[in-house]
Amino acid sequence: MQVVVISVTPYKEKDGIVNAVSSDETITFLVRGLFSPNSKNAALNTNLVIADIELQEGNFKYPVLKSSNIVSSPMKVTNDYYYLGSLMVITEATKNLLQDEEKVGIYQDLIDVILTLKNTDNPWMPVLIYMAKIFKISGYEFEVNRCVFCGSKKDIKTFSFRDGGFVCGSCLHEDTERDFSKEQMLLVREVFNSARSDAESSHCTKENALFLFNKFIDFISDSYGFTLKTAALLNK
Ligand SMILES: [Zn+2]
Repeated sequence: MQVVVISVTPYKEKDGIVNAVSSDETITFLVRGLFSPNSKNAALNTNLVIADIELQEGNFKYPVLKSSNIVSSPMKVTNDYYYLGSLMVITEATKNLLQDEEKVGIYQDLIDVILTLKNTDNPWMPVLIYMAKIFKISGYEFEVNRCVFCGSKKDIKTFSFRDGGFVCGSCLHEDTERDFSKEQMLLVREVFNSARSDAESSHCTKENALFLFNKFIDFISDSYGFTLKTAALLNK
């Protein structure tokens, strides 16, 4: 079965317990000798590796790896700073913001974002789109095509996380946050409307992307009660 590795925990001397997600389950398995210098399965000791694995049941608590075949490793010849930071954000968000059954739901998007990030110099758009998918799978939907209150497509004034989307001039409250620029509103719309992680946007400058990324981090903190520690890596 094909899986994406989400986390690896050392066990005993040289074994590792791997948590991974596939298209129909999240799964935990033991890899004997994972940390041996000459392990055939050493490549599994990397978060976000995509691999074909074969497991066997034994008398251990978890199934044990029989064989593995790496489909794609996130390691590149030149691992630039923002690329590695993006991978860490994606790992932490997937691991901590989603329940096990929700991880199954995001499996294809996870594969998409890993492969897209590997082949682009611009990590911002794929990371934002992936986070928007996480929100959706957790049940947070945002209206980015019309006013969330009256449905009007005209005179959109801002995007509000608290209200759940765009707000038009006549529905604006006194205390509605109004800090999105026009470009940033176009970006948030493209991010939430993108079906695929390789969508591009002319509004996705580093400055706009970081503005929205940090809004996402605040939203995560408020709504999930979780502080994404790796977010600091991208804020440089
Ligand atoms: Zn309205």
